[in-house]
Amino acid sequence: SSTVVVIGAGQAGCQIASSLREEGFTGRIVLVGAEAHLPYQRPPLSKGHLTGKASRDALWLRPASWFEEQSIEMRTSTRVTHLDTGDRRVLLQNGEALTYDDLVLATGARNRRLRLEGADLEGVLSLRTLDEADEVKARLEQAARVVVVGGGFIGLEVAATAVRLGKHATVVEVADQIMGRVLSGHTAAFLLRAHRARGLEIELTTMVSRIAGVAGRVAAVDTTDGRRFPADLVLVGVGANPNVELAEQAGIELDDGIVVDELLRTSAPHVYAVGDCACAPNPFAGGRRMRLESVQNATAQGRRLAATLAGRPEPFSSVPWFWSDQADIKLQIAGLTTGHTEVVVKGDANSERFSAYCFSQKRLLGVESVNRPADHMAARRLLSGSTSLSPQDVRRDNFDIKRAST
Ligand code: FAD
Repeated sequence: SSTVVVIGAGQAGCQIASSLREEGFTGRIVLVGAEAHLPYQRPPLSKGHLTGKASRDALWLRPASWFEEQSIEMRTSTRVTHLDTGDRRVLLQNGEALTYDDLVLATGARNRRLRLEGADLEGVLSLRTLDEADEVKARLEQAARVVVVGGGFIGLEVAATAVRLGKHATVVEVADQIMGRVLSGHTAAFLLRAHRARGLEIELTTMVSRIAGVAGRVAAVDTTDGRRFPADLVLVGVGANPNVELAEQAGIELDDGIVVDELLRTSAPHVYAVGDCACAPNPFAGGRRMRLESVQNATAQGRRLAATLAGRPEPFSSVPWFWSDQADIKLQIAGLTTGHTEVVVKGDANSERFSAYCFSQKRLLGVESVNRPADHMAARRLLSGSTSLSPQDVRRDNFDIKRAST
């Protein structure tokens, strides 16, 4: 029988192992993970995990017994250090060599570091793994002043949590809006006001020049406009880069991630890539190749690839969606809204409940919802179907997305 080796035991890696068994695959599955833990969910790390609201037990994607029951061979605390696509063989740090029939790269992404003076001081933290989250949590409890570098969703979630815990918190963002890469101007401006009203300081168009320390510990963040923000904890949230080293070493085609086709095949035979590390054609972006960092993308690609490997090729992607919980604000995005030229807002920003419909050339690209989960679910249904919606439709007083989506 055949062997599937999965490199990376995160959201996508665990999904593919699980979906392969659901598809009836009876061959050998080996899941190799560099971290010391069994596969877990990252979203709670910047949300409930920090306040203690989410229990540690709720983080695991599967209970420990499940891997044994499903005959999924786990290797934790070891990384794959070499890939030979000719001999179909990988080498592990622990000395083990594995041969495969099919190989899945599910190596995820890693946080960008600041290349600035003081970036290595004690108290300057980054958040991606459970171990890092434990450190952020412990230090947050002790901290009085928190500075977050970067106004992306992870930074904002942590900053909002810090405010909730009674800390003084400041977000420093170089762009002129928060979550600039993913949000419309309307929704970003709403979030900015909402955070400020709750006591979070946000400095836009502000660039960090250095991090100042005293006796090796962080003391302040300096900005290029000559200001100084005192801090005893600095969280750096300036985006992530895909983990592509193995693919690169094996000569596999790269382009902001590991390039794959609609069946998630890389340029090397029998090697596939899924999740944060993969750059895949997306029908919701007009077929353009792109890399998405979301749970939806990781799990959907894991399921699709499992079907393909089980002999049921599945080239169709499902509607992208994403969420972020910031303070008591639930932000949800259905579809891919980048490149929109027109936004129609339904609902009231003052009541903190609205949906922003993003269009390009009268075509609906996606919907951003704030505290409107029912709109979000309807938007996902709508975008997965063939019904088209124009800005005029949405502007009508009696427009109801639930009715439009059924
Ligand atoms: P990962 O889950 O990152 O797993 C990759 C794994 O591969 C890692 O454990 C890594 O150590 C391992 N690895 C890498 N190289 C090797 C190697 N050579 N050998 C062995 N192992 C290797 N998404 C949402 O949709 N909503 C959210 O609210 C949200 N919140 C988030 C909050 C935080 C703090 C973070 C960090 C992410 C969040 N995300 C969220 C994003 C989401 O978690 C990721 O998109 C998802 O985990 C990607 O899955 P993946 O399997 O591709 O990568």
